[in-house]
Amino acid sequence: MEETQKPALKLKRLQEMPIQGKRVLVRVDFNVPLKSGAVSDDSRLRAALPTLRYLIQAKAKIILISHLGRPKGKPEEKYSLKPVAKALEKILETPVAFFPECVGPEATKAALNLKEGEILLMENLRFHAGEEKNDSAFAQDLASLGEVFVEDAFGAIHRAHASTVGIPKILPSCVGFLVQRELEFLDRVIGNPARPFVAIIGGAKVSDKLGVLNKLLDRVDTLLIGGGMAYTFLAAQGISIGKSLLEKEKIADAQAVIDKSYAKKVTCLLPADHLAVSEIKPGVQVSVTQGMAIPEQLIGADIGPHTIEIFLEEIEKAKTIFWNGPMGVFEIPEFSSGSRAIAEAMAKAGKNGAVTIVGGGDSLAVLSQGGLSEQMSHCSTGGGASLELLEGKTLPGLSAISS
Ligand code: AMP
Repeated sequence: MEETQKPALKLKRLQEMPIQGKRVLVRVDFNVPLKSGAVSDDSRLRAALPTLRYLIQAKAKIILISHLGRPKGKPEEKYSLKPVAKALEKILETPVAFFPECVGPEATKAALNLKEGEILLMENLRFHAGEEKNDSAFAQDLASLGEVFVEDAFGAIHRAHASTVGIPKILPSCVGFLVQRELEFLDRVIGNPARPFVAIIGGAKVSDKLGVLNKLLDRVDTLLIGGGMAYTFLAAQGISIGKSLLEKEKIADAQAVIDKSYAKKVTCLLPADHLAVSEIKPGVQVSVTQGMAIPEQLIGADIGPHTIEIFLEEIEKAKTIFWNGPMGVFEIPEFSSGSRAIAEAMAKAGKNGAVTIVGGGDSLAVLSQGGLSEQMSHCSTGGGASLELLEGKTLPGLSAISS
């Protein structure tokens, strides 16, 4: 608990702010996937609904700002938020107007013209270089849209951008219901988790996860490591990994994580077998390795059936489970069985009373593919932000709001 955000920061909550009739500027995370010009997964829009419904009921004039993708500081049609307005309108069952800019006199005029309970979604913040540079003039322009600022973009609070740290310097600011829920969950679980506490960490890169692995070792009873990053750990143990993903320069760090697990008496489990292939592509011939080692010419693409068995045994015993990162190249169905097995086991553990938390876009995608999202205690909308919170880092978007 000592390293988490909440005790150190005093964050004003949306329910404490007078907002009736006010122009409320809400930073949301509508960085949703688009396919053929339409939103293909609306989970992030749904996550914003509690705050939006509250604001509508409270008769605020609502201005939404968000980023989408990485347009590099200038407009790019494929990153327009226009289709998002349509999708939001559908799930909110209320008109959502769209404005094709986020700053400038016309944008301000559109905000000023709003009536109580109306919603206006502005164009992508990242169409302006000032957003990611945290340019103060750009923040000032954005702030002029509203009278009150609500931070509800959990997925963006670990970034020091104009919309996350610039605006709170100018407007009275608070955190919305999504950010509140994310913080409460991570605090509750990390602060005083029901035990055994099992963390499952996967994904491609060791370097992205080292910080959180080290912190988790102070808290968990069992750490299960899978995905592409597991091969660097296996290499550290002197096990041959063929042509699998390897971060050579992280071998020593991986070994340090293993050493720390011994010192802390944390059970740290690596894959015991793998699905191995000559090339990562659909339709390729797949073999199951006999043990931890991978033949010279092959690549590990997913955890094997024996590993699934071992990992599931740990998950079944757990009372708190945290999962971030896929166990294999789950985007290709042949290599998604490890990740699917974790998702299903977590859903089962949840039914038996365990607290289940999932963070990271890929793990969430696995859940939604299996229709299991609703069965988790909490699905975090911000993979990066939740990892940084778990690491005990100070998140710029929260510090900026804290009084
Ligand atoms: P991350 O963003 O670090 O959580 O990594 C997610 C990515 O890891 C996904 O795109 C997966 O395809 C990839 N991944 C998982 N397992 C493997 C593997 N065995 N080899 C290569 N990539 C992997």
